Amino acid sequence: MRVLGIETSCDETGIAIYASDGGLLAHHLYSQVALHAEYGGVVPELAARDHLNRAVPLIQQTLTAAQLNWSDINGVAYTAGPGLIGALLVGAALGRSLAWAAGIPAIGVHHLEGHLLAAHLESPAPAFPFVALLVSGGHTQLIAVHDLGKYQLLGESLDDAAGEAFDKTAKVLGLPYPGGALLAQLATRGDPNRYRFPRPMTDRPGLDFSFSGLKTHTLTAWREEQLTRTDNEQMRADIARAFEEAVVETLIIKCRRALAQTGLTRLVLAGGVSANQRLRERMQLAIAAVGGETFYPRAEFCTDNGAMIAYAGWLRLCAGQLEPLSFQVHPRWALDSLPPIKTADAI
Ligand code: ATP
Ligand code: MG
Ligand code: FE
Repeated sequence: MRVLGIETSCDETGIAIYASDGGLLAHHLYSQVALHAEYGGVVPELAARDHLNRAVPLIQQTLTAAQLNWSDINGVAYTAGPGLIGALLVGAALGRSLAWAAGIPAIGVHHLEGHLLAAHLESPAPAFPFVALLVSGGHTQLIAVHDLGKYQLLGESLDDAAGEAFDKTAKVLGLPYPGGALLAQLATRGDPNRYRFPRPMTDRPGLDFSFSGLKTHTLTAWREEQLTRTDNEQMRADIARAFEEAVVETLIIKCRRALAQTGLTRLVLAGGVSANQRLRERMQLAIAAVGGETFYPRAEFCTDNGAMIAYAGWLRLCAGQLEPLSFQVHPRWALDSLPPIKTADAI
């Protein structure tokens, strides 16, 4: 089976083809970052309209790259939520109608299931069960992944998501939106011993997170230090480094706790923040030190992409999951409400 994947939940149009024979055959991404940069955040209406302009040419490009015709596609997977309603509707309407016209099945994929399974596009893929740390622009969650489609929420952020905290802190430091990756770059020039920021909620039991206090702490440090320090550039880098260190260490503490609590040994990183190099390296060492193994997708599959949607959709379509001709999108959608995938049928 060859499945065309369509991702349009936020500000990235991602298209990919995943096949039973050959795996990931092609993938293309169009990022709207430049379109939204001047507003300092994603403008939902502009996002939806731009997906409309980009999706069809990107599908043509992806088919060409895979040396396939439309008639070679046997199923369509589109992101059905969670995300921006207008943006989701563009991908869902397009995916559902292309499938209807071709007489092939379509399936609405959960965006976070896509993120969770992105590490399976790499080799070696993590075996089930595992603990997943999902750290993205909208979510920070620890999830016990018992099997395909069997997700148990262990803990989550009570306020800002990790990616949101990166972006807001980057803004404080004068970096353009979305500043997460730029903040990480700046941090490489920072002195790790200059400041020590708090590791929120690590001194009490549990697997929940809170990042909004850390963001405020950074803002206060930035204001106070400007009164005494004159080396502005180095100061920004030192603060960026202290913030990144605090987030990375907090995530490591909670991941080790999650493995101890569940008795599992495999940890999978997913979502945009897992592209962070320091997080990947330090997590791998910290988990290896307790006898565990860490898996993560290549950086381009940590942030939004069509490949993870094509893959998750391919799994569900191969398992025989069917959808009616009508379609629905879910701007909010609980991950643990998904039906499990019958593994034996899927692979
Ligand atoms: P969600 O998946 O929760 O709906 P989203 O799709 O907007 O949210 P992703 O595309 O998974 O989120 O991730 C984007 C986030 O990842 C942004 O907040 C961005 O700043 C952050 N990010 C990307 N690269 C890095 C990096 N190297 N270091 C830290 N953060 C990063
Ligand atoms: Mg994005
Ligand atoms: Fe995402």
